Amino acid sequence: MIAEKIICIKEKMKQADAVVIGAGAGLSTAAGFTYSGERFMAYFSDFHQKYGFSDMYSGGFYEFPTEEEHWAYWSRYIYVNRYQNAPKPVYEKLYTLVKDKDYFVLTTNVDHCFQKAGFAKERLFYTQGDFGLFQCSKPCHRETYDNEMVIKEMVLSQGFETTQGKLVVPKQGKITMSVPSELVPRCPKCGRKMSMNLRADNTFVEDRGWHLAAERYQAFMEAHRGEKAVFLELGVGYNTPGIIKYNFWQYAYQWQQAFYVCINKGQAQIPVDIEEKSVSVDADIAEVVELLGA
Ligand SMILES: [Zn+2]
Repeated sequence: MIAEKIICIKEKMKQADAVVIGAGAGLSTAAGFTYSGERFMAYFSDFHQKYGFSDMYSGGFYEFPTEEEHWAYWSRYIYVNRYQNAPKPVYEKLYTLVKDKDYFVLTTNVDHCFQKAGFAKERLFYTQGDFGLFQCSKPCHRETYDNEMVIKEMVLSQGFETTQGKLVVPKQGKITMSVPSELVPRCPKCGRKMSMNLRADNTFVEDRGWHLAAERYQAFMEAHRGEKAVFLELGVGYNTPGIIKYNFWQYAYQWQQAFYVCINKGQAQIPVDIEEKSVSVDADIAEVVELLGA
């Protein structure tokens, strides 16, 4: 029964010395970050008409004929998925559950939602990068660059407006599918193209901030070794299970007082070895987080 599971999780969280959150794509989906349907058509109907793809993810793989068009696509993508708030306040509600605890977040999400919801930067490890950062595409050096200003300039240059941080298609005027050449980002050291700081292949730059976050995560785990810790896994699938899921299973197995919680719709399995110290909730994450906070 879900009600019993919720009571159990709340009790474990209350008693916990530490809460380690592990979050995957499913959490952002639950927060309303969907990549197709209405949300796609609101900002990409012109790209859909010209190229036929019907979701933001597929469009991300498209080889556009010019860099100006490439950045028209990507600036919209980054703006609505990184700088615009999530449609539903799931991250904010999650934050109220842990803000008074000693917590740490390990995530494969690159959309910055944790920080936007109030989670402390020092308690986050974004293993796979961040949409809000550029890096050299080669890369010729291991630094990243904040892209907020240039992304905003790019969307405005196409004819969009931004109202209260939201991208808006104006009632009058036409949206163009390219950005001015001078806005195409170039590496400040070698002049090559810039790319997003996302772990897609071996060009991913692990900059100083990334290494610091990795160290902080290790230090947190070291400091809480053997304590009553709740491992709260949300929306982690099987694309990269080694980063969060298998990691959490191991901690849950090795730490005698650990407790593992897996919340995911459709994929909430628990290994037999840790069954007695685990709860799985196969349900919508937004609803579960709501119940946990009630
Ligand atoms: Zn470079």
